[in-house]
Amino acid sequence: MTAKDTRDARNAKGARDGLAEYRRRRDFSKTAEPRGGRKKAAGDPRFVVQLHDASTRHFDFRLEVDGVLKSWAVPKGPSTDPGDKRLAMPTEDHPLDYKDFEGVIADGGYGAGTVIIWDEGTYHSDTPLAEALAKGHASFRLDGSKLHGDYALTRFREADDEAWLLVKRADSHTAKRGGRGTPDASRARSVRSGRTLKQLARDAGS
Ligand code: MN
Repeated sequence: MTAKDTRDARNAKGARDGLAEYRRRRDFSKTAEPRGGRKKAAGDPRFVVQLHDASTRHFDFRLEVDGVLKSWAVPKGPSTDPGDKRLAMPTEDHPLDYKDFEGVIADGGYGAGTVIIWDEGTYHSDTPLAEALAKGHASFRLDGSKLHGDYALTRFREADDEAWLLVKRADSHTAKRGGRGTPDASRARSVRSGRTLKQLARDAGS
């Protein structure tokens, strides 16, 4: 392994720990996505789940940690059924402002396609989330409009192949709500505007 290989590996690994990778992937003269910055929001930390109709439709699950949004792409979306293990692939940290992004990422840009804010709210964790994530297992309680109660993220593969599972933990919300399972992406509506992906894309004139 050459010095450059080592440096590239370190850069790739470090890329998720700041906003450099987020910015490198985007041309802000062409996308309406925020350039953003690391910042501390007031009150409880936030979470957001965006539905992203990119080349492969997926949900983006993001948790505010230390001034940025730690992010995972969840192909099937979060499930309310504790029996479902949802694959969650880590993606680059996003700026906190990204929690307000809903719109169309133009053709040719990174992640081109429509984004709706599917759910949002605050979360609570008994232990510092950054430390828990570094160790590969984090539990937290979501207080959103659609998602409620205890969830856990667990890393099951490391390094270049890093992958996590997002799982609902059994609690009173599961029992009461009966585990509705996975959201239907084509019928899913924005928690902000009530629009589906299709309606938002049409309104944006694409
Ligand atoms: Mn995405």
